[in-house]
Amino acid sequence: MKHIALLSGGHSSGKVAIEVVRRFGKENVILLNHDLPALVEAEDIKRFKREVAAYVGLPITYVNHPDPEANQFSVCIQAQAFKVDSGPELCTARLKTEPFMRYLAAQFPDKDCIIYYGYDANEMHRVQRRIGVLGPLGYKTDYPLALWGAESRTIFSTMEVGIAPPMGYSQFKHANCIGCLKAGWQHWYIVYCTRPDIWALGKQAEDIIGYAIHHDESGPVYMEDMEEKFAAMRCAGVPQTEHIPHQKFWAKANKIVKISAQQQSILPCECST
Ligand code: SF4
Repeated sequence: MKHIALLSGGHSSGKVAIEVVRRFGKENVILLNHDLPALVEAEDIKRFKREVAAYVGLPITYVNHPDPEANQFSVCIQAQAFKVDSGPELCTARLKTEPFMRYLAAQFPDKDCIIYYGYDANEMHRVQRRIGVLGPLGYKTDYPLALWGAESRTIFSTMEVGIAPPMGYSQFKHANCIGCLKAGWQHWYIVYCTRPDIWALGKQAEDIIGYAIHHDESGPVYMEDMEEKFAAMRCAGVPQTEHIPHQKFWAKANKIVKISAQQQSILPCECST
């Protein structure tokens, strides 16, 4: 029985990798990752993965899309869609799920493995979903952070072994792709401000596919339609962070932009003599 720890590059995945190796021994563990191009996966996430692998003394088994430059935009452009109906984003399927299922079928035809995910106790809906997807296919899964119980856990932060979590957490809540197709506008406001190249790729993908990445209750909302608002937010100094809860963030952003616009309007007229 092999133990496959999915080292996604998020802090939780690093803790899981360490827990699984400590419990089962590195000779019984595979550290598996879907590496993404540096364009969309921050170098510091790659650093984190390398440091966790070095700490547990295992190589990373990369299970990637055949094209090393494939990213969330290129695979969706190729599929001519961002998602199909209410299914998962196609980028997840093409970049991660499909290579992983091919790997499992080739390496574990007898399904003699257990797959470990980094979901914690606040993510039981994701645990249930994974079990619902992989269980019927015959694969066992486990969730050390959610299910092992504090008494049988040995690590609660990789800082305990001198590995700093990825720096991206200073702005983002997750170590996802920069320009995550699943993320909301708060994530994309940061992208607008800090990664105009990724913002441009998102717009280009919407142009080519002819549909929007984002939707609200009234239908699709295109990135181009958000640019004026985001420019005003940046100009007014709205913080570029996902660490303010969603509703509070937008209430604060709207207020800051409004005050800033009012201040501009009461400035003395430049034309007066
Ligand atoms: S992290 Fe986001 S953009 Fe990247 S593959 Fe997953 S859903 Fe797609």
